[in-house]
Amino acid sequence: MRAIKSVLRAATSSIGPNDRNGSKNAHRPYRYSAFDLLRHGFSQADWPRAWREHDLKSTYDVVIIGGGVHGLAAAYYLAENHGITNVALLDKGYIGSGGSGRNTAIIRSNYLTPEGIRFYDRSVKLYETLSVDLNFNAMFAQRGHLTLAHNDGSLRTMRWRAEVNKLEGVDSEVIGPEGIKNLVPFIDTSEDVRYPILGALYHPPGGIIRHDAVVWGYARGADAHGIHIHQNTEVTDIDVADGRVRGVRTNQGDIKTNTVINCTAGWSTLISDMAGVKMPIRTFPLQAAVTEPVRPFLDPVIVSGTLHVYVSQTDRGELVFGASVDPFTSYSMRGSLEFAEGLAEHVLELMPSLARMRLLRQWSGLCDMTPDFSPIMGVTPVGGFLVDVGWGTYGFKAGPVSGETIAKLVATGKTPELIASFGLDRFGRGDLMGEKGAAAVGH
Ligand SMILES: Cc1cc2nc3c(=O)[nH]c(=O)nc-3n(C[C@H](O)[C@H](O)[C@H](O)COP(=O)(O)OP(=O)(O)OC[C@H]3O[C@@H](n4cnc5c(N)ncnc54)[C@H](O)[C@@H]3O)c2cc1C
Repeated sequence: MRAIKSVLRAATSSIGPNDRNGSKNAHRPYRYSAFDLLRHGFSQADWPRAWREHDLKSTYDVVIIGGGVHGLAAAYYLAENHGITNVALLDKGYIGSGGSGRNTAIIRSNYLTPEGIRFYDRSVKLYETLSVDLNFNAMFAQRGHLTLAHNDGSLRTMRWRAEVNKLEGVDSEVIGPEGIKNLVPFIDTSEDVRYPILGALYHPPGGIIRHDAVVWGYARGADAHGIHIHQNTEVTDIDVADGRVRGVRTNQGDIKTNTVINCTAGWSTLISDMAGVKMPIRTFPLQAAVTEPVRPFLDPVIVSGTLHVYVSQTDRGELVFGASVDPFTSYSMRGSLEFAEGLAEHVLELMPSLARMRLLRQWSGLCDMTPDFSPIMGVTPVGGFLVDVGWGTYGFKAGPVSGETIAKLVATGKTPELIASFGLDRFGRGDLMGEKGAAAVGH
């Protein structure tokens, strides 16, 4: 046994991080496999670092601000699809420390407008192959998504959404209380409650994913292409001259660049202000909570707009709850007792059988809300200053398609069709998107 261990240790240690992720194999991240798991188990050798640390260079072709799913996906697709690798991704904390590590990980594409549906559907398609593309298990479970209707107005919006979804080729239909009961046997579909359930929009491709894995997978992929990920690097100012971006200033040093992408979600107006670009965005906290784990009993994600609550069950058995944003703007990321009390009340209206479950944790993140519940993506009046912001309570699911389209914009100088409706200039034209009916609590 000792001999086997030493052979395996030698085999593992002969492949250093530089061989795996460094210049020789710059485009091939280290491949995880079942054999490697065994080999590392026996040899107990360290795994190679998933992404490396670098000195901050004084010049980069592209600087991405924000190390959430949007910034990291943009970095990855810049390199993967366009061969642009002289890129710095800067985060003031650690990657995934913003909304990308705090969300409830619901993925779906059953939006209301054709533009929204097409855009989010492309993201679902990218998520479906992400684990294979990144060789990193993102645990995407397409268990279905139910949006409940408790009144005639909501039912009418569900029917509208279902029809537009079908026209765009997205699987969605309205089902009645009996169909809901078949999918979720313990839900209260009786008429003796405050808000009886009249029906639901059922979206089979929707589901949940492991958000940390998505962040780490993209970081690993970007790093393998030679992109520099700089954590603990806070942007403090942006240099603009003659209407163009010239560079960024950080707490670790200054960088010259012609292209800056703002991917900072809840902090996005602070960054845009540095470039002198005003954004119609306000930042609100959004809270969520998780229970102790129990045996799996809930397959689909359930959302109730009327009760301001949604719930899903993780693969580990915990129930994850969320709601709508706190009713005030703030940069605070603290949970509140009012939230936990309101949440428990509404959850029990839907599922009285959960009365004895215990909440384990609650937390909060920041949401950059736009007036029309749609993102702001693309060019701005400042040359070279691009934005991928306005993600509100629903932006995690959009990470892959946003990265893909923003990377294409940088590489080609042309705004891709999929994001043409999300430009900042729509507010000047009064041409808003109107996704509120599909994005307010649904995430
Ligand atoms: C509780 C909660 C539940 C949610 N649930 C869902 C859901 O189920 N489905 C869904 O699709 N979306 C959901 N969302 C929304 C989603 O999390 C966000 O829209 C998404 O994660 C935004 O990703 P991002 O990469 O744009 O920004 P973030 O992940 O927020 O990353 C922004 C990064 O910018 C960095 N930064 C800020 N200022 C600076 C600076 N000056 N210099 C350098 N770096 C800086 C921050 O440190 C941060 O890491 C939820 C959000 C919350 C809070």
